[in-house]
Amino acid sequence: MILWLLFFIFSILLLYFHNRRVISHKNLEKSSKKSLFVIAHPDDECMFFGPTITYLMKNHVEVNILCFSSGANDMEKRVRKDELYRSCQELGINQNYVSLLDSSIFPDNIKTFWPVIDVAAEIENHIFRNGIDTVYTFDEGGVSGHPNHISLFRAVRHLLKCSEVATGERTCFFFYLIDTMSTDKAK
Ligand SMILES: [Zn+2]
Repeated sequence: MILWLLFFIFSILLLYFHNRRVISHKNLEKSSKKSLFVIAHPDDECMFFGPTITYLMKNHVEVNILCFSSGANDMEKRVRKDELYRSCQELGINQNYVSLLDSSIFPDNIKTFWPVIDVAAEIENHIFRNGIDTVYTFDEGGVSGHPNHISLFRAVRHLLKCSEVATGERTCFFFYLIDTMSTDKAK
C-alpha cells in the first residue's frame, strides 16, 4: 500500500515537473504560434507578463488573453474592463484576442479560491476553440500569494494531469509559469 502511494506521488511530481517551464525568453518554444495568457485581473497582463508579451509580439506569436474577473462592482468593472482593453492595445494585442469573463463563480476577491474544475473548463474551452499551443500563467505561489492567481495555476495543473491520463501521452500544449519572488531562473 505504501509503495503504491509513493509510486503515485512520484508519478504526479514527475508529470508536474515534466510539463512545467519557468518563463525565460531564452527557452520559449520557438515553434509557438498561438499563446494564451491566463490572468485573474485586468492589470495582471502588464504587471506580471508585460516583458514576455512584448517579446512574443516582436517574434510574431499570436497573443491571446483570458481574464477571469473584472472587479467587485459595476462601476469598477466598467473602468477595469476599459483599462484591460487599452493596456492590451498598448502591448499590441489584437482586441479580438482578449476575453474577459464576468461570472459570479470567479469573484475578484483576495480571500477566495475559485473552483478548479470550473476554471479548468473555461481554459480548456479557450485552448481548443482558438488552437492555443502555449499557455502562460502564475505559479503555485500566485506571485503575490493572491488566491485568485493561485486558482489559475491549480486549474492548469489539473488540465495537464487530466489530459495526460486521458491520452497516455504528453500534453498537446506547453505550460509556462511566472516564478514567484525569484528572478534567478529568468537570467
Ligand atoms: Zn491579479
